[in-house]
Amino acid sequence: MVESFFSIDPALVRLGEEALAGCREQFDRIDRVAEYNACKMLRAFIDNRVSESHFAGTTGYGYGDRGREVLDGVLAQVMGAEDALIRHNFVSGTHAITTALFGVLRPGDRMVCLTGLPYDTLQPVIGIVEGGHGSLKEFGIQYEQLDLLPDGTPDYQGIPQAVAGAKVAYLQRSRGYSLRESLSVEQIGRIAALVKQANPQAIVIVDNCYGEFVEEQEPTQVGADLVIGSLIKNPGGGIARTGGYIAGRADLVELCACRLTAPGVGKEVGCTLGESRNLFLGLFHAPTVTACALKTAVFAAALFSRLGYEVYPAADAHRTDIIQAVKLGTPQGLCAFCQGVQKGAPVDAFVTPEPWDMPGYDSQVIMAAGAFTMGASIELSADGPMREPYAAWLQGGITWPSGKAGVLLAAQSLLEAGELHLG
Ligand SMILES: *Cc1c(COP(=O)(O)O)cnc(C)c1O
Repeated sequence: MVESFFSIDPALVRLGEEALAGCREQFDRIDRVAEYNACKMLRAFIDNRVSESHFAGTTGYGYGDRGREVLDGVLAQVMGAEDALIRHNFVSGTHAITTALFGVLRPGDRMVCLTGLPYDTLQPVIGIVEGGHGSLKEFGIQYEQLDLLPDGTPDYQGIPQAVAGAKVAYLQRSRGYSLRESLSVEQIGRIAALVKQANPQAIVIVDNCYGEFVEEQEPTQVGADLVIGSLIKNPGGGIARTGGYIAGRADLVELCACRLTAPGVGKEVGCTLGESRNLFLGLFHAPTVTACALKTAVFAAALFSRLGYEVYPAADAHRTDIIQAVKLGTPQGLCAFCQGVQKGAPVDAFVTPEPWDMPGYDSQVIMAAGAFTMGASIELSADGPMREPYAAWLQGGITWPSGKAGVLLAAQSLLEAGELHLG
C-alpha cells in the first residue's frame, strides 16, 4: 500500500511485508498494553469528572483554574501517584527534571544516579560538565554515580552501599542516546526496593522520558517516589504543544510546585491560557499514540535486521521505551537513513537534513524531524552523532501507517545512495 504513493523498490516492499509478518506477536502485545492503558486513562477521566468547562483557559495568576487541578488529578491516577503537576509552563523534560531535583534537594544533600551517566542535558544541571550557571553543584549538592555493569544492566549489588546517606536515588528509565537496554518497570521496582531497604529515607526519582504507557505499570506503582517526563514525548500524545509533568508523593510534588512557581504559592497559581484542552486531549490519546510509535520501532528493527544491520533492541525484545537504534556503520549511511525518514514526514518533507554543529555536542549531529511540534520526538524522528558507530536513533510515529512509510523510505534512501544492496 505504501508503494501506491511512494516509489519504493518492489524487493524492499516484499522484504517489508516479510518483516512485518514476523512482528505479529509483538504487535498483539503492544495492542493489549494500549487497550489496558487507554482504559486506565478513560477510567481516570471519568473518575475525575472531566468536563468541557475545564478546557476554558485562565490568564494572569490563574487562581482557581479547575481544569489545571482536574488534569493533575487525571495524571496522578494513571501514574498511580498521590498527586501530579502537569503544566505547559515546563519548557522541556529537562526543565521538569531540573525543577524536581532543585525542589527536593537542599545544600549539603547528595544525589546518586544508579543508572550510570545521565542523559546529556542533565549533565550541566547536576554540574557533571560545565556549561551553565546555577547547577546543583554550585548550590552545594553532591553527586555520585553507580555505573551500569559492562552488559548494561543495573549493578544491584552495589546499590545498598551507593545509596547509604543519599537524599535522592535517581534512575533513568530510557536508553537515551546510548546502546544500553532501557529499564523495565519491574527492574525499577526491584531497584526501588533495594534503595528503601538500605536507606528508607531516600527519595527515588525516575526520569520516565520515552517510557510512559509502554508497559501497563508506571514506576510510581512499584515504589518510585517521583516520575518525570516531557509532553512532546509519549504523554503529550502528539497534541500537547509543549510542557512536562512530575507525579508522585504529594509532599514531594508540593516541593516541586514551590520550585516551579514560588514558595508560598506552589500549585495554586499558573494560568493555562488556552492549553488545557490540548493537554487533556493529548494525554487521552497518549496510550494509543505510544502504541503506534512502538509498532514503528518494532517494524524498523525487523526490517533493518533483515537488511543486515545491527539493531537495538531486537524486533522481538521486551520493550520498555519507544527508542530504536539502527547501526548504519558509515557517515553516508547515517545521512541517507535520516534523509529518508525526512522524506516521509508530514511537515517539511521537502527539506534535506545535513549534519551540523549542535551546541553541547562534541561531534556533528544529523536530525530528521518533520514534525507539527518543534522538536517533538513522539512524532517520527531520527538523529545520530556523526561518529562511530554511525547509529541512528529512531523514535516516534503518531500513526502506525505513516511510521511504517517513514521506515520504508529510510531503507529506500539507503538503496538510492548505494549504501544498501538487496540480494
Ligand atoms: C528527552 C529526554 C529528556 C529530556 O529532554 P528534553 O529534550 O529536555 O525534553 C531527559 N531524559 C531522557 C532519557 C530523555 O530521553
